[in-house]
Amino acid sequence: MTIIVLFGAPGSGKGTQGALIAEKYGFLHLSTGLMLRDEVKKGSELGKEIDKYISKGDLVPNEMMCSILKEELNIYINEKGIIFDGFPRTISQAEFLDIILKENGLKIDLMVDIQADEDILIKRLIKRGTMSHRSDDTHDTILKRLKIYEKETKPIIDYYKKTNRYNSVVSINSIEDTFENIVNLIEHIEM
Ligand code: ADP
Repeated sequence: MTIIVLFGAPGSGKGTQGALIAEKYGFLHLSTGLMLRDEVKKGSELGKEIDKYISKGDLVPNEMMCSILKEELNIYINEKGIIFDGFPRTISQAEFLDIILKENGLKIDLMVDIQADEDILIKRLIKRGTMSHRSDDTHDTILKRLKIYEKETKPIIDYYKKTNRYNSVVSINSIEDTFENIVNLIEHIEM
């Protein structure tokens, strides 16, 4: 199974690129944001708990997130590939991912950081907020999520750099351009 980690700030285009990769390669697109919002929609006890964090723009606590992810991974273990979108978001999640993949005889085959400047990110997220009905796409929450990204999520870059697994593409031109660069990286995965 091929494991791809899509990394990037909120609004960088992980979701868009994840869907395109899934379509081209027949991999499963595992968006933790989508997964969490689905649970909230179900109205389960867990969903209610999750909503407390998401709607404020806070991260779901590591322990809760990791146990949800572990269960999901069990379901998808026979897929051709998995694209992680939105996970890991903290160093401890990155460590956790390495551990559970290893337990299943797997490893990250490609980590890609999708880079975009903050002003572009803010513009995109505000635009998305006017179209989507996501409770977390409001101006204040967007700024908070970008702050949390800088503090909690960005340090993961060093974690992957130290282990020689870091790759990046810039997401400033078109969706197609970014996709082409990612495909280029996928085609060079050593199996
Ligand atoms: P974005 O990348 O635009 O922030 P997502 O759909 O990836 O959107 O995530 C939405 C929200 O879901 C996050 O702000 C956070 O509250 C929660 N979330 C998603 N993934 C994680 C994660 N790995 N750890 C903790 N919380 C998460």
